[in-house]
Amino acid sequence: MREPFLTYSNSLQERYGAKTYKLTLSGGRTCPTRDGTFGPRKGWGGCSFCDIHGSASFFANERRELPVQVQMEKASTAIRQRFKAEKFIAYFQSYTTTHEEIAEFQNRYEEAIRFPGVVALAVGTRPDCLPDEILDVLCTYLDKVDVQLELGVQSFSEPVLEWFERGHDGATAVDALERALQRSKLEESKARKGRLDVSAHLILGAPMETSEDIIASAHKLNAIGVHGVKLHHLHILKKTKLEKRYKNGEFSFLTLEEYMERAILFLRHLDPRIVIHRTHGLAPHPEELVGPDWSIQKIYPVEKLKTVMREKQFFQGDLL
Ligand code: SF4
Repeated sequence: MREPFLTYSNSLQERYGAKTYKLTLSGGRTCPTRDGTFGPRKGWGGCSFCDIHGSASFFANERRELPVQVQMEKASTAIRQRFKAEKFIAYFQSYTTTHEEIAEFQNRYEEAIRFPGVVALAVGTRPDCLPDEILDVLCTYLDKVDVQLELGVQSFSEPVLEWFERGHDGATAVDALERALQRSKLEESKARKGRLDVSAHLILGAPMETSEDIIASAHKLNAIGVHGVKLHHLHILKKTKLEKRYKNGEFSFLTLEEYMERAILFLRHLDPRIVIHRTHGLAPHPEELVGPDWSIQKIYPVEKLKTVMREKQFFQGDLL
């Protein structure tokens, strides 16, 4: 049956010829909006939606003191046994992984790509933490593996970015995406073994976000030519600035149906060649979730979204 959008798992199957699993690893320990490198003042406290774990997954957070190879061994053992998995993506997600001395994260990345079965290195970072020097470092790995660069764009709308307290504007995200994509093309022309894949992370569901914002974001990403998009719905975690605003009654959660409307609007305006890494977020620590409670479900929301799109005969890019 035709999928209503281009799924990440299918794109991995096509690229690597086998089901390929992400090993989520802990790398960076802070980020520029927490340590005061960028932003209005020191001790600013980070983005309004982000928890004290720097958006790390539960296991990555638990294992963060361990050497990278040990983290990978632990993360891969169960997956190998359960799924007979042989191919992995080493994924550095938490905090801002490129926000430290280059030599430090270089060591971690090199350790990660030496792990048996690793076919790609995935790195999440902020648009304002991607100087050309870091792109140079990432491209050194292309002789061995693919590099998946995930940029935390979150939104292109300035009021939404301010509400998120990101400390960067939409133009900074556009600049980082464009530079990374130019670099990706350049490396492709050198026929390297691996390729540099560039994707954007977006959060849908801020109270001031309009349908026009959502459509404009899709059009912008189409024009820039990103390889992938990762969608996250707005959920509220405990001990975040958004928790306080929520408790003050400043906004309410989106129901799954309301979120699906936004996600579908976005997908229908998105170029069908862009890979959808994810359609909603998952609360990394369920006991720290304020809401909505559907945030703790991994499979149901995406299956529901697909069912609705199929029933209505909606497809990625069908409104372009
Ligand atoms: S979302 Fe990223 S940049 Fe923002 S506070 Fe969390 S770790 Fe830092």
